[in-house]
Amino acid sequence: MTLLFNPLPPVLAPTSDGHEFPVRRLFCIGRNYAAHAREMGKDPDREPPFYFTKWAETVVPTGSTIAYPPLTQNYQFEAEMVVAIGKGGRNIPREAALEYVYGYATGLDMTRRDLQFEARDKGRPWSAGKNFEQASPLGLIHPVSEVGHLSSGSIRLTVNGEVRQDADLAELLWPVEDIIAHISQAYRLEAGDLIYTGTPAGVGAVASGDKITVSVAGLSDTRVTIGSPANA
Ligand code: MN
Repeated sequence: MTLLFNPLPPVLAPTSDGHEFPVRRLFCIGRNYAAHAREMGKDPDREPPFYFTKWAETVVPTGSTIAYPPLTQNYQFEAEMVVAIGKGGRNIPREAALEYVYGYATGLDMTRRDLQFEARDKGRPWSAGKNFEQASPLGLIHPVSEVGHLSSGSIRLTVNGEVRQDADLAELLWPVEDIIAHISQAYRLEAGDLIYTGTPAGVGAVASGDKITVSVAGLSDTRVTIGSPANA
């Protein structure tokens, strides 16, 4: 038996201490900051956490220029803190959840907002709005041994140096341990999974040439430039 074509190599995310983290799956939390839920037209009042997924291959490293994607006139940034899962488990109790974290990173959940809203309002899946090439820029992963666990601290995003999102991780409606406990009831979490924990208020559109920086206190930045439209 021979392979019909070459399979994709694994997506490797660099860590701050010189290792490579093999990325398995991306889980993204929706409406995890109250002010952002409101700006999306929703009531955040203790809605249970919900998530959507993205392909591992949507991850691109900090420093990338990412193509302006097709089919959108409203391509938006979402600054997020990202949890890198270091070991697998199902039905993980909240009290043990942080033992499953390898480390933390900054990241972007780039979104074709017009397609997401069209799907949302028609009761369709969000995939076209969320899961497309280069949609998940990621900063260096910092191991817990270096930065500890992140439950508070500044999260902010600038476009061309202007502050557009500015919040604190303490505002997360569902903090990391709750998210891990909840997701692991639905799926067996595995080493290599990334959890994008949701974005604060202030999301907005970008254009080709814009430079985005995501900062979270204690972590290194994610920086991307919006390039020309994808054409290949
Ligand atoms: Mn998001």
